[in-house]
Amino acid sequence: MEREAAKERIEALRQVLDTYRRQYYLDNQSEVTDAEYDQLVHELEGLEKEFPEFRSISSPTETVGGGLSPEFKTVRFLKPVLSLGNLHSKEEFFEYARRVEGWLNKPGPLPWTMELKIDGLSVVLDYQEGRLLRAATRGDGLVGEDVTANVREIQAVPTRLNAPISGQFRGEVYLPRSRFAAINGDRAERGLPLFANPRNAAAGSLRQLDPAITRERGLAAFVYEIRELTQGPDIERQSHALQALAEWGFSVEPHWRLCQTDEDVQAFIDTFLGERPPLDFDIDGLVVKLDRLDWQRELGATQKSPRWAMAYKFPPEEALTRVQDIVISV
Ligand code: NAD
Repeated sequence: MEREAAKERIEALRQVLDTYRRQYYLDNQSEVTDAEYDQLVHELEGLEKEFPEFRSISSPTETVGGGLSPEFKTVRFLKPVLSLGNLHSKEEFFEYARRVEGWLNKPGPLPWTMELKIDGLSVVLDYQEGRLLRAATRGDGLVGEDVTANVREIQAVPTRLNAPISGQFRGEVYLPRSRFAAINGDRAERGLPLFANPRNAAAGSLRQLDPAITRERGLAAFVYEIRELTQGPDIERQSHALQALAEWGFSVEPHWRLCQTDEDVQAFIDTFLGERPPLDFDIDGLVVKLDRLDWQRELGATQKSPRWAMAYKFPPEEALTRVQDIVISV
């Protein structure tokens, strides 16, 4: 592509992606599917790579998507709440794993934990001596929305843990499929607009000014990360963190596995790409995380995502033929 044409396309893509982000994160709506959105991001990444003079730190490829509704108090994070980079095939995973081995200068294969990527919305939870103090959405990754009153209405998020733990944890709030079907059935009977998917329904149900509405929607949540532990045992592996989180009373998605070899990783991916075990929640992929937390710290993160973890996104179920039209029509 010519330089001028590339510049125009980059600008058009950034504009359309910003619009989709606002709709998705602030209005809990999507005009395009996630696969269509991801395809546009992929195109923008390609152009920014080819024409690095047009790169920008505020591009959707470099920033954590999200936003802040003026209706909520804000919470500033001491450590950014990041997104994840994407992998789309086993080959891409193996290339990534070899890169990580090179960065760390360690012979592979390294141990990876593999988890399900729950399609909900990210929350950050603060506990003091085992009591839930505060809950926030991811917001723009630096500042989130205070949704403590609403999260207290989610039964799966303990207001008291089984141990006097203090720290910050990260998880995903989601709407079980069975609840989604029931809520939409009820809305249809009452002539109300239906929710497009469980993810948007979950986001709309959590980001409510009236916590009673959150309660009646029947949200659930899984916790998958210790961001900080100011009081509690020393934990040096993600697999140990998942076990400890469950022992303390958090709801932890149980299908995760510690994979020690490339074959283990391959088998885990195959299980979830093929005939999946039945789940009462949507997943949009898997997450691979370096198991050792000291190595995670050594690798650190970019402005947008950690270098020690990746989302393994499932192939889109629908064709992406609309993508070109979408940008052109903006
Ligand atoms: P992401 O959803 O691709 O990955 C990061 C998120 O995964 C984390 O924030 C976390 O909330 C979640 N997650 C779920 N399970 C996890 C686990 N076990 N471990 C770690 N993280 C886990 O990235 P994102 O920045 O949150 O969102 C971008 C995605 O959102 C896009 O790729 C697209 O699919 C979707 N999106 C869609 C639209 C649209 O208009 N359709 C607009 C914006 C974004």
